[in-house]
Amino acid sequence: MEHNLIVYNTLTRKKEKFEPIHPNLVGMYVCGPTVYSDVHLGNCRTFVSFDLIFRYLIHLGFKVRYVRNITDAGHLEGDNDEGDDKFAKKAKLEQLEPMEIVQKYTIGFHDVLRLFNTLPPSIEPTATGHISEQIEMVQAIIKNGYAYEVNGTVYFDVEKYVKEYNYTILTNRNLEDLLTNTRELGGQDEKRGRLDFALWIKAKPEHIMRWPSPWGIGFPGWHIECSAMSKKYLGDQFDIHGGGMDLAATHHTNEIAQSEACNHSTPAKYWMHTNMLTVNGSRMSKSAGNGFLPGELFTGNHPLLQRGYSPMAVRFFMLQAHYRSTLDFSNEALDAAEKGFKRLMTAIGLLEKIQVSESSSFGNLSEIKDRCYQAMNDDFNSPVLIAELFEVVRIINSLFDNKLTITASDLSDLKSFIQSFVYDILGLKDDQLADSDNMDDLMQIIIQMRNDAKKNKDFVTSDRIREQLNAVGILLKDSKDGTLWNKI
Ligand code: AMP
Ligand code: ZN
Repeated sequence: MEHNLIVYNTLTRKKEKFEPIHPNLVGMYVCGPTVYSDVHLGNCRTFVSFDLIFRYLIHLGFKVRYVRNITDAGHLEGDNDEGDDKFAKKAKLEQLEPMEIVQKYTIGFHDVLRLFNTLPPSIEPTATGHISEQIEMVQAIIKNGYAYEVNGTVYFDVEKYVKEYNYTILTNRNLEDLLTNTRELGGQDEKRGRLDFALWIKAKPEHIMRWPSPWGIGFPGWHIECSAMSKKYLGDQFDIHGGGMDLAATHHTNEIAQSEACNHSTPAKYWMHTNMLTVNGSRMSKSAGNGFLPGELFTGNHPLLQRGYSPMAVRFFMLQAHYRSTLDFSNEALDAAEKGFKRLMTAIGLLEKIQVSESSSFGNLSEIKDRCYQAMNDDFNSPVLIAELFEVVRIINSLFDNKLTITASDLSDLKSFIQSFVYDILGLKDDQLADSDNMDDLMQIIIQMRNDAKKNKDFVTSDRIREQLNAVGILLKDSKDGTLWNKI
């Protein structure tokens, strides 16, 4: 397939031409949410970024199998976490079954992503639905000599692995530094090496989410779920593995080690990581307590928010930054994004009202289109694409003001260009004018009342109608074909 897509690969730390393993089917695995609580806006940024990537690959003509898991097994937060699992804690708190917690927050996650207009993945496997696959993988790793069991818990033997493989291949960290920064083994530790991590964990009597295994009753470690599910649905080697940047150093590093130890091959050809959404410079996270819930953002019901913003304005805000740059949240940045989004949607609304001419004087659409493709082919550069779209906004506004002209066939090309880049690729939709059919009827009544006032030389009333509409963001424009309206 002909294409010029270049992607940044975390594994090689370079931009590379995208060449999928099987040209007819791109396999993409993205680490999904842990569903013991609501997703915050930071999590959503990662999923919106991969939605952009998914959409663009589809647009280029690739068939994509997009697998995004649901982390619902009650494993512990980190490898050194000795506490209760988060699902059991939440279940006690909300007086629900752990699986009711899973269901509740999975539904919430889907609802939120639907509001952000993300496409559903092709497969959405759950960790609890794939316990046997995880056990099989742990068995294979033990058989290949890279894991050991102590008292019902199985550890990955990093010390052995590093003798043959580059354990820090993904982040290029120095192994000595890593060891220095890792807690020394205490007297009670069962692990042989400081960097060893659990593949399977013996369940304490109070641990609710538990399964039988060859090593007794227990539950899987976090990292093994993604290795087992990506292997099951995408094979030992697939094209893209993604997630937030925070996952690279531990979760993804350990996934690579597990897959190498089990399959003798590295799981993904391209590793892609999204950067963090920050609030006043610090990462938005569940544990830091600085995470807005999308619902709070839409209603404005949060102490840090001056008002609410529509899901599409927020999606636009996210897409205005490149997925590998940090994006800092602020009311001012959201205000600016909302204005930009409205400007874009208002211009698109005008397309239906543009008069066609015998010739076009607006420039060359194919040059603009080329620049938009160049932006997206350069590692999905949505901010540059959006800057190009604002050029198109200027053109549409000039066409509407009759300062430029366009033929019927160029207008139809312009409309399909907008369909591709704004709706299909950026995944935006016009939530501002969702009620426009009804709105137009109402506006026609108001316009008629203003015309009547003008006819009666009641200019105080006619001006007041125009000014008051202006104040609520509706612009009236008198033209030779009558009065037109649009949202500002
Ligand atoms: P979690 O539910 O915490 O496992 O996170 C789900 C996904 O969201 C992972 O891919 C994380 O890397 C990502 N993520 C978490 N916090 C942020 C953030 N502040 N900005 C962007 N992505 C994030
Ligand atoms: Zn994962």
